[in-house]
Amino acid sequence: MDTRQPTPMKSFDFNFQQIVDAANDIVIVTNADPIDPPGPEIVYVNKAFTELTGYSPEEVIGKTPRLLQSSGTDADTKKTIKQALQNHQPVRVTIKNYSKSGRDYWLDVSILALRNEAGEVTHFVAIERDVTEQKELEHKLETLSRTDPLTGLLNRRSLEDYLAKEYSRFTRHGTKFSALLLDVDHFKSINDQYGHSTGDRVLKMLADSCTGKLRRHDVMARYGGEEFCMILPYTDGEHAAVLADKLRTAIAAEALQAGDSAVRVTASIGVSEVQASDKTPGDILERADAALYEAKQSGRDRVCLSRAAQASQHAGQG
Ligand code: GH3
Ligand code: MG
Ligand code: MG
Repeated sequence: MDTRQPTPMKSFDFNFQQIVDAANDIVIVTNADPIDPPGPEIVYVNKAFTELTGYSPEEVIGKTPRLLQSSGTDADTKKTIKQALQNHQPVRVTIKNYSKSGRDYWLDVSILALRNEAGEVTHFVAIERDVTEQKELEHKLETLSRTDPLTGLLNRRSLEDYLAKEYSRFTRHGTKFSALLLDVDHFKSINDQYGHSTGDRVLKMLADSCTGKLRRHDVMARYGGEEFCMILPYTDGEHAAVLADKLRTAIAAEALQAGDSAVRVTASIGVSEVQASDKTPGDILERADAALYEAKQSGRDRVCLSRAAQASQHAGQG
């Protein structure tokens, strides 16, 4: 196969290097070899490279662009680049690099192979743009879309994603987990008595108080207005009910200081354990909701364990 590039119709009568030197984007040219460690040697960098990285051309020529990478550079992205170089394929990735002073930044990188007139790959060129601000904005938006602004907890959508992951771990490996649904008792009257903004502060304090009592793997989300959901990995219903009762007792005992008001609230909690018969991740929440309803019906300020969890424990003992 003839891999030669078409010969240009005409050569230009100006100096390409002046353009590349002055470009806002970073340009790095390396030799084509070696792709294996230590990696291809840099033969050219433009001014934009020095401005961003703090390395002068003299400091990097003869070295490999891998000197800009560190343990925080994604291993899969590095592999994608390496494979593309080996196959002489163009590649475009977003990658984290590090400046001479150790500052990290994100680059949108396009790499392609440069061929000589005989069609042989002699060099690679990387054209790079600093996309750190864009990445940070994306990260901020992602965080905002996943958290509840009042309490800082995960929102319902994130909780559902998390639950789906736990459920899939259970279906693949049988790793048990439990769910709690906590609803503040008579919260309407708290708002009526103290006002909505004090109500908001009570919710925030209650969320902080509960998260402080959870274990490292547990997650808590604001599931609705004054309703919270917790997922407890590696925990059966019985142990989840013990933790739920600890939360309930602490809530009832604490006077939440919201501004001038010391507000006392209680909460009801429904507890459920994942079951082999569950068909969807939502099944465990439905049972926790039924148990919560039972806790409300039987007087509030209490914990109820879903009957399915109780039945499976008895079956397990028998
Ligand atoms: P119970 O759950 O014990 O049956 O009574 P409740 O009064 O808590 O029940 P209900 O679900 O009927 O009302 C919940 C109230 O919570 C309604 C609303 O006024 C209040 N609420 C919901 N979201 C917020 C919020 O973000 N801030 C404040 N301050 N109040 C909220
Ligand atoms: Mg409610
Ligand atoms: Mg309520």
